Amino acid sequence: MVDFDRQSACIFLNSEMNPKNKKNIPKPTSGQETTLATLLEAIQMPELAAGQPACAVCRLSEAGVERSIRTLFAEFINDEPIRLLVRRSRGFCARHTPLIARLGDPLAVAILYSDLASLTLEDWEAKSKGEGAFARIRTKSTAAQTPCPACTAERETEDRYCHSLADGLGSDRVWSVLETGQALCVPHIEQTAAAAKPIFAATLRKLAAHRLDTLRAELDAIIRHSDYRFRDEPWGSERDAWLRALRHLRRPTD
Ligand SMILES: [Zn+2]
Ligand SMILES: [Zn+2]
Repeated sequence: MVDFDRQSACIFLNSEMNPKNKKNIPKPTSGQETTLATLLEAIQMPELAAGQPACAVCRLSEAGVERSIRTLFAEFINDEPIRLLVRRSRGFCARHTPLIARLGDPLAVAILYSDLASLTLEDWEAKSKGEGAFARIRTKSTAAQTPCPACTAERETEDRYCHSLADGLGSDRVWSVLETGQALCVPHIEQTAAAAKPIFAATLRKLAAHRLDTLRAELDAIIRHSDYRFRDEPWGSERDAWLRALRHLRRPTD
């Protein structure tokens, strides 16, 4: 198994948002085969828990973000570069705030958000004095300068899995898993295709297009049920297609 705690820490410590350790700690390049094996296992997962996305990269990314934030709270909450990183991002985005609340760490949140409250108060004080160029410079300096730390962890986890899959597309076994396992979502198909050789990217899109066409037919079946002429037709697999479509055709990570 991958040493996830170490990997999670590396995401923060190596992040380009981290001004201190930009070059000191190498990015984790080993373990790529393990990364691919983990992804293939997730793609073949026979049954998913309610509400879980079918896409294995989405599932692993969600789990990876949660691990990264837990590591940040448990081991780096008093680490000055990490706190600077959170200050520069001006906190977590609205999409990741429910995760932070669910982790239920009052002390970690109090430490980070006390900093943010101070920054905001300084910002407002500068604005209240706000005349001339000096005030504008100060106001600008306290605006968000980097993305949400959880979004950064998510993007780096997605990159890692999509690149490992792209590199593995020369293997018949990988294609066998992709053909029989859970479908990847459209953004992660695209991310993998962008990192793959053109011939593999075309085959990957062809495979994904077949499944997307099936999903579209189910969505069309839902629309058909709304027509009074077909209202009595029994419902089939299309019943939850609208929920699967929301996950499958989701917007890429910002
Ligand atoms: Zn996905
Ligand atoms: Zn976020």
